[in-house]
Amino acid sequence: MTKRIFRSINIVALGVFFASVVLFMGALYNYFTGVCQNQLKMQTDLAAQGVANEGIDYFNDLMIENYRITWIAPDGSILFDSAKDTSEMENHLEREEIKMALSEGYGESSRYSSTLMERSLYAAKRLPDGSVLRLSVAQNTILTLSLGMAQPLCIVLAIAIALSLALAFRLSKRIVKPLNELDLDDPLNNEGYDELSPLLRRIASQQDQIKRQTRQLQQKQLEFETVTSGMNEGIILLNKKGEILSLNRAAAKLFETDTQCIGKDILSLNRSFALQNILSKAAKGSFSEGKIALSGGEYQLDASPVKAQDDISGIVLLIFDITEKEKAEQMRREFTANVSHELKTPLQTISGCAELMKNNMVAAEDIPAFSEKIYLEAGRMITLVEDIIKLSHLDEGAQDMQRETVDLFEIAENTVRSLTDAAKSAGVTLDITGSTCHVYGIAQLLQGIIYNLCDNAIKYNVSGGSVSVDVHEEKSAVVLTVSDTGIGIPPEHRDRIFERFYRVDKSHSKEVGGTGLGLSIVKHAAKLHDAKITINSVLDAGTTIKVEFPKQEKRQPAITQQQA
Ligand code: ADP
Repeated sequence: MTKRIFRSINIVALGVFFASVVLFMGALYNYFTGVCQNQLKMQTDLAAQGVANEGIDYFNDLMIENYRITWIAPDGSILFDSAKDTSEMENHLEREEIKMALSEGYGESSRYSSTLMERSLYAAKRLPDGSVLRLSVAQNTILTLSLGMAQPLCIVLAIAIALSLALAFRLSKRIVKPLNELDLDDPLNNEGYDELSPLLRRIASQQDQIKRQTRQLQQKQLEFETVTSGMNEGIILLNKKGEILSLNRAAAKLFETDTQCIGKDILSLNRSFALQNILSKAAKGSFSEGKIALSGGEYQLDASPVKAQDDISGIVLLIFDITEKEKAEQMRREFTANVSHELKTPLQTISGCAELMKNNMVAAEDIPAFSEKIYLEAGRMITLVEDIIKLSHLDEGAQDMQRETVDLFEIAENTVRSLTDAAKSAGVTLDITGSTCHVYGIAQLLQGIIYNLCDNAIKYNVSGGSVSVDVHEEKSAVVLTVSDTGIGIPPEHRDRIFERFYRVDKSHSKEVGGTGLGLSIVKHAAKLHDAKITINSVLDAGTTIKVEFPKQEKRQPAITQQQA
């Protein structure tokens, strides 16, 4: 801008200079022409008087310099000319000044030479005898004058250019200075040019608008971040090249990264084939999903293309943790396989015995033994099916069962009583200690917990061993303890004995009528009561299992579905 102003000022200054020179020279030339013409007129008057008085003698000894004097007869013929031979001169009647002088008494005119380098001024006066006396003087034309003044003009022009450059430089700086000093962060507080006020007001209003929009965007981004940062699911926004635009905390944790990955290609975080596959499908505009193993878990990826008009402008990647779901699926598959397997064995025994009896292949004295076998296997199947039903009922949250405040000690006493015969036949003593302790829960399930623990303590005991049941109240819990002096549980199995169908010694468990579901039922029932189970076992010395029920009056039933 400074350059433009500088250039404009120089052009204007030089333009004005040249125009002034031309006008000035023109005016000056006109003025001097007028002066010259007046002098010529005066001299013509004087000479006319002289010729009128003296006739042709007037020209004798006349010293003529610069001027040319011509005496023309009334018929236009030349009587005298100071510059040329009169015989060579043509008739002058048609000359403008002569015509004027003849008609009006005085006439004047001017004529340029053929080269335009000189101009002649003419003044003619009619004498009383009708002849005309003409004086002419040569004058420089304006062109000659200008050429003559070329040198001083060039000097003046050089000075004018220098002055113009200096002034233009200072002026352009001074004009631009307020513009450079404008505070655009606070446009309304500027003391610049008044002409800039509308522009500054416009800038101020646009800045307000930008600030408002920025605030709104920041607010929206904050809301988005607040929502997404609280999500357990990972969310990643990608541009169409697959570069990360933003990601929430969960996603950053899953890919073991932080916000520094923003701007990088997502494949630099994970190069799995599944991820590449779903991203390429999404980039082509279709929703795609897949599974991927991340941070030791199983995750589902949903990739949705973001469309702006008809173009794909990015991809939204959602990452769901499906570890539990996959585990549950796996367990369900295992459970089904286990149930089939567990049912198949007694069924095969029953079927085999029945087939032998049907074909009369069993001796009459062996029939009671075969019948006993069928009866026992059928009983085992019934127990197994009952346990499965109990477990699936617990899986569904046992919502149909009534919760009430019950005396855990009383339930334990009844359960122990019902197991006295079993304990006796196993050669194990069974006793109970404790006092009335109230628990808010489902009596049937609490009874199931005590029954299964006591049943195991008897089953996995040694002849002559003992089982002690104790119910007592502590500061914040009601504690049920079942200890035995049995075979104990090897440490490496302790974490798994609560799994469905898990047995330390499968044949021993079957021998003593175990289904492998007892402790799963205990675990689920305890969970529904928010109870904590701890196990303490010494191999060949005995096992103590403690169940701590939190003291909480009239709790709402837990409705979450539990899976072992
Ligand atoms: P089961 O019907 O086979 O008893 P459980 O789920 O009740 O199934 O128990 C799982 C396994 O845990 C049992 O097979 C057994 O090996 C072990 N177990 C449970 N309780 C005891 C205990 N008190 N002493 C020793 N082992 C036990």
